Amino acid sequence: MTRHHTLRIAYYALLITLLSACASPTPTPQSFAPFILITQDPNASPTSTPFQPSGGVNTALPTFTQVPSATATSTITLTPPPTLTFTPPPPPTVGSVPPTSPPPSTSSRANYILYSTLDFTGKTITTDQTIRYYNGTGVALSEIVFSVQPNRYGNTFALNSISQDGTALTSYSLSGQRMTVSLPISLQPNTATTFALNFKLNIPQKSADGVFGYDFNQINLVDWYPFIVPYQGGWVLYDPMPWGEHLVYDSSDIELNIKKDSDVVIAAGATPDQNGEWIRYRMYGARTFALSASNEFLVSESTVGNVVIRSYYFNGYKTGGEGILSLGTQAIETFSEQYAPYPHQSLAIVQSDMHDGMEYDGLVFLASDFYGQYTGGSRGNLATIGVHEIAHQWWYGMVGNDHALEPWLDEALATYSERIFYENNYPANISWWWQFRVDYFDPSGYVDTSIYNGGSFRLYTNAVYLNGAHFLDELRERMGHGNFSKFLKEYARRYSHGHATSADFFALMRETVNVDISDLLDKYFSGSY
Ligand SMILES: [Zn+2]
Repeated sequence: MTRHHTLRIAYYALLITLLSACASPTPTPQSFAPFILITQDPNASPTSTPFQPSGGVNTALPTFTQVPSATATSTITLTPPPTLTFTPPPPPTVGSVPPTSPPPSTSSRANYILYSTLDFTGKTITTDQTIRYYNGTGVALSEIVFSVQPNRYGNTFALNSISQDGTALTSYSLSGQRMTVSLPISLQPNTATTFALNFKLNIPQKSADGVFGYDFNQINLVDWYPFIVPYQGGWVLYDPMPWGEHLVYDSSDIELNIKKDSDVVIAAGATPDQNGEWIRYRMYGARTFALSASNEFLVSESTVGNVVIRSYYFNGYKTGGEGILSLGTQAIETFSEQYAPYPHQSLAIVQSDMHDGMEYDGLVFLASDFYGQYTGGSRGNLATIGVHEIAHQWWYGMVGNDHALEPWLDEALATYSERIFYENNYPANISWWWQFRVDYFDPSGYVDTSIYNGGSFRLYTNAVYLNGAHFLDELRERMGHGNFSKFLKEYARRYSHGHATSADFFALMRETVNVDISDLLDKYFSGSY
């Protein structure tokens, strides 16, 4: 997730010469702090969110005390998470085969239960994983496809055993990110089966701009366990590209039981409880379970209703750590009012040595650079990217989409949600936001660009994120703010824990208010909707 500096450097050089060259009649855009050049890692994959170099003016934010928990004023009723119907098997000792076929589950969502032992110093994690998979595809399945992202790294993933309903599986192939398991007997529609896996990760060193792996004081585990990919007329597991995201996830119920050294703090998208000698996390209706571990985390906490927001940061970054906690708390409040109740018990905002931000269910990573740049207020990369990643809890987490073929459905909505955030919390910053986040890049390109026809990181993000935000702004004007808000609420409700497509988006939009947007479609979309 590195920023494509070569492109960016060329871009800045061009911009600065332009700015210095022709002082245009229009008010000269805000001048930015000198760009900090960081040697580009040629193998790095580009940033998932376009952002600005440091600087930008700040408006004071209410200060936040690092008290155990400070409740926000407004009371937002949140639906308590359902109790897990899938009784977890008794904790196996790592390496032993867990008991066979747990009782049937009522939820059609896949259930993942993991028992993991994290060796923070040794940089390994060993796991017994159970997956109860319900075949809701409508067809008989003779094979099941798993995404195994750690297998994209050398010497990282070791599968020790895999079984189905208690019987060891022998015919499966693992190549790159794809594991294909051929079933001895096809799995009929509307029936369920249970897979049990035992695997070990030798956690690789994190690349300077990546998320997954270990750093000198932190281990980030993202897309770290095998998961069954969606089946939509075929198994959906795309090839990665140097930009954007390629993974598509079904919504599932996930329970992690973990053992770790006592001095290690874990950041995750759920509030833990004790399960015997294990620390247990449970997430319902999540796409994936990510975590970050460190023996140097400082933690500040706040609440919105019964949602707990925790900011995990490192020594020397307290201002940023508490600043993003305040902004994050406001974002949860705003988006819960504007879209739907926040879908999890808690949110973890985690500082990490990377170049931008990255969203997971109930957990977002933000670049240390942003914390270092932050001097308070609601402007700057920490604020804008932080709010962007939090908005992904709704657009990616709650409402799923095809990140490879239709990334605008989460990225344009997450980017435009920044504007909705400023409108509801810092309206004086709206025009600053347009300049700082969007128009500085002079975005163009079709919003319905996929990761495969993006052309470059810059062209891709300009089209999907930034031009996407312009499209949504014009759509809102055309629909009327009230209708637009009603539309987004119904979109969140109708596709909650499901998958939405561009066709779904426009069908519901027309259902909400039937206005002519043919000119907007011509201007912003290559496809017809
Ligand atoms: Zn994003």
